Amino acid sequence: MTPIPRRQFLFTGAVGLAGLAFSGRLGAATPPGPSDIGPVPLTPVGPPPVPVAAKASADVADVPSPAAWPAEKRIGFAIVGLGGLAHDQLLPAFSLSKRARIAGLVSGSPEKASAVAGQYGVKQDSVYGYDEWERIAQNPDIDAVYLAVPNSLHAQYTFLAAKAGKHVLCEKPMATSAIEAQQMIDACAQASRKLMVAYRCQYEVFNRALIDLVRQNLLGQVGLIEACNVQSIGNPLQWRLKKALSGGGSLPDLGLYCVNSARAVLGEEPFEVSARVWNPPNDPRFSEVEDTMAFTLRFPGGALVNCSSSYSLHRSQSLRVYGTQGWAELENAFAYRGPRLIVHGKDGTKEITTEPTLEFQNPFALELDHFASCIVRDVKPYTPGEEGLQDHRIMEALYQSARMGRTAALAFPPATRGPAPI
Ligand code: NDP
Repeated sequence: MTPIPRRQFLFTGAVGLAGLAFSGRLGAATPPGPSDIGPVPLTPVGPPPVPVAAKASADVADVPSPAAWPAEKRIGFAIVGLGGLAHDQLLPAFSLSKRARIAGLVSGSPEKASAVAGQYGVKQDSVYGYDEWERIAQNPDIDAVYLAVPNSLHAQYTFLAAKAGKHVLCEKPMATSAIEAQQMIDACAQASRKLMVAYRCQYEVFNRALIDLVRQNLLGQVGLIEACNVQSIGNPLQWRLKKALSGGGSLPDLGLYCVNSARAVLGEEPFEVSARVWNPPNDPRFSEVEDTMAFTLRFPGGALVNCSSSYSLHRSQSLRVYGTQGWAELENAFAYRGPRLIVHGKDGTKEITTEPTLEFQNPFALELDHFASCIVRDVKPYTPGEEGLQDHRIMEALYQSARMGRTAALAFPPATRGPAPI
């Protein structure tokens, strides 16, 4: 992944934050523009950062590798489940990947799978049904699987893939419960296979820029985050509305992005949550799973995170971070494309709003490349199974809070992660 050069991000016109001077942090003396390439002293402002113990042990840089790998060196992925995500996002993303290639397809629809294989140059004998894991195990061309099936199937295909000797890149939500998530971690550990949850936003350039901004304390102390992920769900018969297949409604499908992004931005784990659920009366779509959820997470550094998810509102996917020295808003924060980052702060007595011109990169290609790199270098992924487990613990506490009508406390250590993507 192309790094966001910290100095460039902060100080040069190339990414548009020129002249952004938050309360002496960048200083009124800092000249704007691309000519500003000399050393600039960084003096932290605002309260000290949160205690180290509360931070995720994550932020070690990955090794840069801008060049595309030749075909024979790329990690071969079999895509499991050829539905909407696979068709519209994953398969096309391989053409943008620098380290991954499509090596197989697993589907319950042989005709569709055969047609897709033809389209993407996959050998017909590398097309499998869901019960052909022994054959998959025999294919050395397949190093890893990408699980893009309904949520409740993630665990069983992780077990089968690990047993077949394949690494697992699993779509979100990782599972349908924390217990299942732990079992998936254990199965991959026992088979010495890597497990990564496809939290694409943690690899996406604009989301990472926002994280960077907060970690550098450029907004001051973060006190409030507002995260919203809502959309209108159509087909009332789809698996997302069947609890046995989805594990839940808008929370694990959409609200999860809010939870995961807040944790990523703050680098901390929440210690208390509260939630309320609202289902429209007499709407058969929501007889098994929740429609709208409004919830709050409290973090040890003092930040309050207000989130909302819904299956019955026009699409909106935003993330807003408020600090003592400024705020930043990421529009389309969780969308496949079109993110827009707006940063606002104070320069002396002047209020400044700026929009960094970062280069968008396909987040699916970035996450594929990160996982491929982790496999080759034998390092833990940045979003390993433990990261998914953490979110399941939080979501279970949120459901508990909604059920009981009171806050729920959480106490668990930060997720262990591998090196940050670059
Ligand atoms: P779809 O319903 O579009 O596709 C799921 C596919 O899974 C089906 O087409 C089918 O493929 C296969 N499948 C196997 N068993 C079943 C079953 N019992 N019922 C239904 N489908 C089955 O879902 P999505 O592609 O939208 O979602 C797949 C996964 O990806 C989910 O976990 C979801 O949360 C996640 N997702 C992640 C996104 C992201 O941005 N990271 C965005 C959208 C989804 P086949 O016919 O080939 O067997």
